[in-house]
Amino acid sequence: MLGLMQQRPLLISSLLSYAETYHPGAEIVSRTGEGAFHRYDYRGLGVRARQLANALVALGVKPGDRVATLAWNSHRHLELYFAVSGMGAVLHTINPRLFAEQIEYIANHAEDSFVFFDLSFTALVEGMAPRLLGVKGYVALADRGQMPAATFGPLHCYEDLIAAADADYDWPVLDENTASSLCYTSGTTGNPKGVLYSHRSTVLHAFCACARDGLSLSSADSVMLIVPLFHVNAWGIPYAAAMCGAKLVLPGQALDGKSVFDLMVAEACNFSLGVPTVWLNFFRYIEETPGLPLAEVKLERVVVGGSAAPRAIIEKFHALLGAFTIQAWGMSETSPLATIGNLLPKHRNLPVEEIVDVQVKQGRAIYGVELRIVDADGKRLAHDGAEAGDLLVRGPWVTSGYFRGEGGEVLDDDGWFATGDVAKIDSDGYVRITDRSKDVIKSGGEWISSIDLENAAVGCPGVQEAAVIGVRHDKWQERPLLIVVRKPGHDVTGAAILGFLTGKIPKWWMPDDVVFVDELPHTATGKLLKLKLRQQFADHVLPQGGTPSSAAAAG
Ligand code: ADP
Repeated sequence: MLGLMQQRPLLISSLLSYAETYHPGAEIVSRTGEGAFHRYDYRGLGVRARQLANALVALGVKPGDRVATLAWNSHRHLELYFAVSGMGAVLHTINPRLFAEQIEYIANHAEDSFVFFDLSFTALVEGMAPRLLGVKGYVALADRGQMPAATFGPLHCYEDLIAAADADYDWPVLDENTASSLCYTSGTTGNPKGVLYSHRSTVLHAFCACARDGLSLSSADSVMLIVPLFHVNAWGIPYAAAMCGAKLVLPGQALDGKSVFDLMVAEACNFSLGVPTVWLNFFRYIEETPGLPLAEVKLERVVVGGSAAPRAIIEKFHALLGAFTIQAWGMSETSPLATIGNLLPKHRNLPVEEIVDVQVKQGRAIYGVELRIVDADGKRLAHDGAEAGDLLVRGPWVTSGYFRGEGGEVLDDDGWFATGDVAKIDSDGYVRITDRSKDVIKSGGEWISSIDLENAAVGCPGVQEAAVIGVRHDKWQERPLLIVVRKPGHDVTGAAILGFLTGKIPKWWMPDDVVFVDELPHTATGKLLKLKLRQQFADHVLPQGGTPSSAAAAG
């Protein structure tokens, strides 16, 4: 027997309509340039999104067409989020930090019909335009006075398109499984692959960001959205913010410590989200700048994800700003929220140190997400906090395959998606990611977690950033090499770092060598590019028993 409830589709346009009706005056603040800000609210967003939808129709955009963006976090980018998906087209947010060849590949693979770009990407677009074969037109996110001289085209002016468009537009009632947005995983090997989200998956995912045991987002929050709109839909926050009427603060291109700090204070932001690298820079600024008005920072909750949150970041948020760090784990393929690091009632009265022990884990699965860990034969492993295995995931906002069939079948017979991460799950359900499976260091048959070593090393005074890779070893097969970027003006030594690590990690995990570099390579989403480091240090000889990988491979 079927139930008798109404079948109303879950649509992205309904989020905007709700925000306009119930939170019309909730603010959206956007940095548009050096010291310049644009301010409006959900009422204004609704009007301009409808104008934009009409403008897209006038340009010839049809349902299902892919519309690309190369843009920072701004109100215009947000308008594209709602207008493109709302009208039934697919918003393709391109990560501008990718190499130009990768962007070209992605835009052609997605068959983008239009490219909307921030002026800071004009040269990039100009260079690629001759090879973007399916693109019918370009739109500069600018007003008439700022338009670049066009050597490619047809080139339109965003503000002209909006000004010419009517604000009357009825959002179509789509099938909720209609594709809404497309993000390519940056992928450290091989070509990027497209993850295609639907209206349904996006709205369900937004509910969990607003849930109390999710990110607890609500109309009481002023959100500093540091995670880029081009990185997995900014972790779904634009949709969740509309669902609950949260104030949105969009920092544009200025993600340095000072700009983030000043904007956070000016807009009384109590909630923020970003990858660890951003927060390392943020705290570097705070520590190097005496006399900052820390008491004026209203931050209460910070979501850290994308890479493991080092203990030092969690402790500094607590000690310097009184803010609670929520670590979250996920990937493009999981929309991305999959596990969220909230406390359980039994943790509430623990000493800070022990609470931090909980926060350094990646959190528990949220409702809707199923997790399991398996060994190399696919056998299920215990959730006892000790056994480590390949992490599998399943759920209504987890991908079932990549755009245009890339990568073939990605689910097993029971519908599980292999994340490529190695994890432990404890008896309370907290996940601990120990590594990407390809980054695990296999030493004498045991596994060493490069993530744990990196996070411990970042806690050492004088260390700005650290990476750990496995290097060939005669006896142990692989041993850890620690690669460090010093904080400016510090001269911390390898011996001092190893001394600092003593007692904090198992003895046999101790890196066999420490090398210093000026900077570490990162992917376009801010993760350490281990592949590059492994190539760079392939010939590194450990003090005892090391064999250069290239020599070992040759032999
Ligand atoms: P990419 O396209 O670079 O893989 P994703 O954002 O999809 O970008 O990356 C997902 C991966 O990032 C995860 O599989 C995991 O390895 C890593 N990751 C994300 N969040 C965390 C976290 N909190 N702790 C450890 N690793 C994380």
